[in-house]
Parts: sequence; structure tokens; C-alpha cells
Amino acid sequence: MTLVHLAYLAAASLFILGLRFLSSPRTARLGNLLSMLGMLVAVVVTLLDRRIVDYTWIVAGLVIGSGIGVAMGRLVKMTDMPQMVGLLNAFGGGASALVVLAEFLANPRPDAAAALITAGGMFIGAMTFTGSIAAFAKLQGILRGAPIVFPGQRALNLLLHLAILAAVILFGLDLVGFRRELLYLVLILSSVVGVSLVLPIGGADMPVIISLLNSYSGLAAAAGGFVLGNTVLIVSGALVGATGLILSTLMCQAMNRSLVNVLFGAVGGGQGAQAADTGRRVTRYTPVDAAAMLEGADSVIVVPGYGLAVSQAQHVLHEAVELLRARGAQVRYAIHPVAGRMPGHMNVLLAEANVPYDLLKDMEEINEEFAAADVVLVVGANDVVNPAAREKGNPLSGMPILQADKARSVLILKRSLAPGFAGVDNPLFYQDKTMMVFGDAKELLQKLVSQLKAA
Ligand code: NAP
Repeated sequence: MTLVHLAYLAAASLFILGLRFLSSPRTARLGNLLSMLGMLVAVVVTLLDRRIVDYTWIVAGLVIGSGIGVAMGRLVKMTDMPQMVGLLNAFGGGASALVVLAEFLANPRPDAAAALITAGGMFIGAMTFTGSIAAFAKLQGILRGAPIVFPGQRALNLLLHLAILAAVILFGLDLVGFRRELLYLVLILSSVVGVSLVLPIGGADMPVIISLLNSYSGLAAAAGGFVLGNTVLIVSGALVGATGLILSTLMCQAMNRSLVNVLFGAVGGGQGAQAADTGRRVTRYTPVDAAAMLEGADSVIVVPGYGLAVSQAQHVLHEAVELLRARGAQVRYAIHPVAGRMPGHMNVLLAEANVPYDLLKDMEEINEEFAAADVVLVVGANDVVNPAAREKGNPLSGMPILQADKARSVLILKRSLAPGFAGVDNPLFYQDKTMMVFGDAKELLQKLVSQLKAA
């Protein structure tokens, strides 16, 4: 075993350790650092191993890429993270497609196995590139978020896949010559497939598709690793492929959907699909009333949601909770697996405000406790507490929810009666035990905090 192999083994171990540590918010930063270190080792060792490398291009890529990365990190808001991940997936898929193409142009006579992997890598890489760009455009509001379907879409998709399969086989086994043209054909058809895969997917299902495309970008990288004969690229690609698939499956479970249903179901609502029922009466509270109610509570469960992220109210929410705890109330945060707009969104947001991790409770852990809670404080959450999920025939049907409606009373902080992401009106707003406090979450909580401090 050479020194290079040993270094690759160390890099792969760092990736695996990094993933291990990423599984808890407490250790996630360390996980990121270890993975970055692994990548640094892999890149430096590969460059040294190849010896004849034109460093002008490497340095130019490093400077431009780092510049764009730093700018994106500073400019992109946390709520826009899914789009950014979409773009990063596109770069990963595109880079892998270019790697397999460049390798083929440099060595145009691969054996059958290498050729099949080249064509397969081109298929996944190009599909990931255009699919991720389409996903980015949907999430950014450049394309319509709701499913975009047209007659004959499935038949067209089937034909495209068959044509790609034929081209991959003809190219891989070199049955008719014209290899370069066949590889370009795979590139073009796969690019079309990427877009047609994502268009029929509805807004609420976009995170699943983003994580699936992440998995594809890993497979494309692994194919690039095979073509280049680079072990560490194969290992890191396989890890991304596997973890992306696991995450997609977990998200589907949290929404009570199957992956096949997400990919081919053409459902998923999109924002504000149904108007709220304004005919029914709700009980309105001011922040002063809300503060009085919370002051009298011994047990409070906070349900954070997407609106907390929009209004950036995490710090003031933490302040309010600490004031209540100082008065002797038991306060916990109930974290729904799909609250917000990306996996772990609420954990990241609350960690930013230094909320102690032991106050964060998963859905399974806290759901039993709602019945004994005096007040549930819902801050910018909607779908994750919507009892309509227990009924049949709406986009939320079957999704497990936080049982906020089981508590003695519910305080909901949001700007209006508008529905959440899935576009389903929320019957909880109209219950007798529910008090609506209308306004921006941050402003409301600031008023609430000054009231609690004054009391
Ligand atoms: P939600 O159902 O989208 O509801 C968020 C609520 O926040 C809205 O009803 C909105 O009502 C309110 N809001 C927005 N801005 C606000 C502000 N500045 N101040 C106060 N309230 C504000 O959010 P959720 O309960 O967190 O549920 C998440 C949904 O997103 C689920 O349907 C999930 O499937 C989906 N999803 C999840 C992920 C993920 O990975 N976590 C990704 C994509 C989609 P007003 O407009 O009336 O204020």
C-alpha cells in the first residue's frame, strides 16, 4: 500500500467520522470541520500524486470558487438555503459530467466497463445538473412552484429513458462507432430528462427532490472516480449517494409519503393553494393578553415553524422562554421533523440563539406531553400543528403532526389566517381554546418580552 492510499484511507475515515458527528446539533460543527479536513487531504494528495499539474488553472479555480462561495455564504439567507443546496448539487453534477467527458476526449478508447461507467456518469451528472437548476428555479420563484404537467409527459419520459439506455449500450459496447456523437447524445437527452423529472414535482415535495438530487450528484462523482481511477472520489461519492438517499427516505416518512409517490405523484400543493376560511370566528389576543396568559402557566410547549425563520425571531423567542423559566415554568420546544423549509431548520435556528439542546424535544418524545401542557405557544408554525392532517383528502392527509390541539390552551403568533406551505386551512385557529395574536413574530415577541420584564 502506498502513502497515497494511506492518505486516501485517512480522508475517507474523516468523511465517515464527519457524517457521524453531523447527526447531532451538538457535534455538527466538529463534523463539518472533520469532513473539510478530509477533503483538504484528498485534494492535496491527489494534486501531489499527479505531479504534472498546471497550477495556474488550479489557483484560478480556487480563487474564483472561494470568492463565489464566501459571497454566497454571506448573502444567502437561511430561509433560502434549499435553493442554494439545489445550486450546489447542480455544480456537483455538472462537474462530474465534465470530468467523464474530458477523460473520454483525452482517452477515446475505453474498455467496455469503463465506457459503460463513462456513459452512466454522463447520464446521472447531466440529469443532476439540469434537474437541480430547475429545482432552484422553482424554489426561487422563477418557475411556478406547483406541479407543471402536460399531456403525454410520462410517455415522453419513458421514451427519453429508453433512448438514453440504447445510446449508453451502443456507446459502452462500441456497437456502431460514432462514440463521441453518442456521448453527446446521452448528454443532451439526460439534460432534458433532468428538467422533465423536476417539473411535475410540487412545492412541498421540493426538499425531497433536492436531497435526492444530492444523492444523484454523489453517484455522478463516484462514476467520475471510477473513470479517473481515484479511490477517494469513489468513496466520497458513494457516501453522498447513500446519505442523500437515506435523508430523502426519512423526509418522505415524516410527510407520510413514498418516494415513488413524490417522484411520480404530481401532487404537493404549493404555497397558498386554498384561501383561508374567513367566515368563521377566531379569538384575538394582544401581546399583553398573551403575556398575562403565559405568566399564569406552569407548563409551556413552544412550537417553532417557518415564520420564526422568516421574522428572525429566534433570539427574542429564547429571551421570552428564559424569562418564563426564571419564573419557574417548565418550558420545552417541540421540533417537528419538517418544520421550516429544510431538514433540521429549527435545530439550526434555535442553536443560533444558543437555546440549550436539552430543551429541544422531537415529535415522538413530546407528543404525549401536550395534553398536560397549560399553554402551547405556536410561533410562525402552521402545517406542523394542522389537525386537518388527520382527515382524508387533502395534501396534508396522513402527515404526523404535533398534537398542539390536545393542550389546555393554544397561543398562535402569525400575521394572518393564511394557510401554511401545503395550502390547507387550519381548523386549530377556530377552536375555543385557541387565541390568535396577529403580527410579525419578532415584533410580537419583543412586546411580549417587555411585558414579561415589566410584570
Ligand atoms: P408553514 O406551514 O409553512 O407555516 C408557516 C407560517 O408562518 C405561515 O402560515 C405564515 O402565516 C407564518 N409566517 C410567515 N412569516 C411570518 C412572520 N414574519 N411572522 C409570523 N408568522 C409568519 O410552516 P411549518 O408549520 O413550519 O411547516 C413546514 C411546511 O413546509 C410543511 O408543510 C413541510 O412539509 C413543508 N416543507 C418542509 C421542509 C423541510 O425540510 N423542513 C422543506 C420544504 C417544505 P402568515 O402568513 O399568516 O404570517
